[in-house]
Amino acid sequence: MSEPEQEVPEQETQSLLSDWPEDRLRARLDEVLSLWGVEDLRAVIEVRWNPRLRTTVGRAFLDDMVLELNLRLLARHPEQVEHVLIHEAAHLVVRRLFGPDTPPHGRIWKAYMQKAGESTKATHDLDTSGLSNSNVRRRRRRRVWFRW
Ligand SMILES: [Zn+2]
Repeated sequence: MSEPEQEVPEQETQSLLSDWPEDRLRARLDEVLSLWGVEDLRAVIEVRWNPRLRTTVGRAFLDDMVLELNLRLLARHPEQVEHVLIHEAAHLVVRRLFGPDTPPHGRIWKAYMQKAGESTKATHDLDTSGLSNSNVRRRRRRRVWFRW
């Protein structure tokens, strides 16, 4: 693919950051952790925007208990922020409570999503045009992470 990179306009990412500063992400995350009865994980899980992610809308670093959300992709789809946040949070919680052999989008994970009132669909069809970069070899992954 040699299509030119279409940047997401700076204005869109700024607007997302002002609607969803990290402290609002944090507050929403804390809320869902309470709903799931795992308030003790509030102190353990970190959440942050990542402006360098391309087509992966969110990811969960299971060992570090860190969630990252794709700033540029979600700037195009701000209505999906909460869903992606909860999707990734459910991975961390399920991993912590049920261990590393639990299927990432299996029955237990789905039960957590349903409890939060969220869809259990595990793939996305968001507009990633201009964000993919198939020419560049991916850096070696440090940790397990999940696409949606
Ligand atoms: Zn997932």
